[in-house]
Amino acid sequence: MMFRDDADPYVPGHGDLGFDVLRYDLELGYRVDGNTLDGTATLTCRAPEATERIHLDLHKLNVQKVLVDGVRAKHRHGRNRLSIECDIEAGAQFVVRVQYGGRPGPLSKRTLGEAGWEELEDGVIVAAQPHGAPTWFPCNDRPSDKASYRIRLTVGSTYTVVSNGRLVSTTPRASTTTWEYVQDEPMASYLATVQIGRYQLFDFESVVPLRAAVPAALTDRYDAAFGRQPQMLETFSQLFGEYPFDSYTVVVTEDDLEIPLESQSLSTFGANFLTTAWDAERLIAHELSHQWFGNSLTLGAWKDIWLHEGFACYAEWLWSEASCRGSAQERAEEHWSLLAGSDQELVLADPGPDKMFDDRVYKRGALLLHSLRLTLGDHVFFDLLRSWVSEHAHSTVSTEMFREHVRRAPGDAVDVLLDAWLTEPELPPLPPAS
Ligand SMILES: [Zn+2]
Repeated sequence: MMFRDDADPYVPGHGDLGFDVLRYDLELGYRVDGNTLDGTATLTCRAPEATERIHLDLHKLNVQKVLVDGVRAKHRHGRNRLSIECDIEAGAQFVVRVQYGGRPGPLSKRTLGEAGWEELEDGVIVAAQPHGAPTWFPCNDRPSDKASYRIRLTVGSTYTVVSNGRLVSTTPRASTTTWEYVQDEPMASYLATVQIGRYQLFDFESVVPLRAAVPAALTDRYDAAFGRQPQMLETFSQLFGEYPFDSYTVVVTEDDLEIPLESQSLSTFGANFLTTAWDAERLIAHELSHQWFGNSLTLGAWKDIWLHEGFACYAEWLWSEASCRGSAQERAEEHWSLLAGSDQELVLADPGPDKMFDDRVYKRGALLLHSLRLTLGDHVFFDLLRSWVSEHAHSTVSTEMFREHVRRAPGDAVDVLLDAWLTEPELPPLPPAS
């Protein structure tokens, strides 16, 4: 039997390596008043080897019934893990249906903080990175298990629901409305989300359809803060290659939020991001770039988080350069100096779970990319970046795969450079700018 309880040491107790989910079909009903969620999750799965037990992650909510291929299955639900007895042959496809419900809330871990389902003043966001997906649906919670999704959520008709992918239908009934979204491109569980609030929806012209969900009271402040997104999309599409999904949606909550967060095909910002300050704009660029780096190309192990955050931070500098607010070279020099003055014990390729979202991972990752660019020249560097994106679109990536990829560059300077930035704690010097 191939079951292993800990798929990833950074997020212990989550994920089952013994099977894959191919598709999630979530039927959800939610009452904002009282925070009650009822759901039926139908998971189409496959096990590479024969198995008699699978595990799903589900935090706190109550499990009423579990069916495997239409037959009631014995199960046990601890606080966070749902263990299901089954009899699956090697390579076989099977369907698990879980009926569940309760009062969802965030999942807290000592090293990782809180993530998942979060009540706002008048609505909900799901910000699940890296361990919050089990707060609202039963899942194989490891980022290497990407699947397609259909999410249907029924809620009071005064609320708007935003979720991943395409909105395929809205069905009003007496006092409720059902919102149905389909995400065809594979998605990691932590990137799945629902956003519930009293939002108005706006559509904008751009190289890809751009949508905004904004509370009525804040709509007049949207353009000043987010008006440059069409140009950002154009810039990033040129530098990284085609935008990987059908559309992009920005949700602005009525509440202030400490940090914005990316989900697949959408990002969530607090009302405090409705400003023209560079610190807000750089994060608008940062979250958008995660659609390429993190959502289309997703890490298989959390130790490789620099493949998301280093690239997204470098995208901020590229946007700064493209919009004439300081070249990437100037941003790199500034942040190299700041890093040179801080502790140098962090190893970029394996920072440890408690330093996964340390700012040095972001900045050092971006500096690595800028160093590569200085070493290889713009032409080779951006060609390598675009082929990295196109060859691994909608799949799982690792640091080792990135090393293999950039080894295509002529000369042997790249390996030495990558070693210094990825595996040594000391800060390497920036290569000279030409
Ligand atoms: Zn980020």
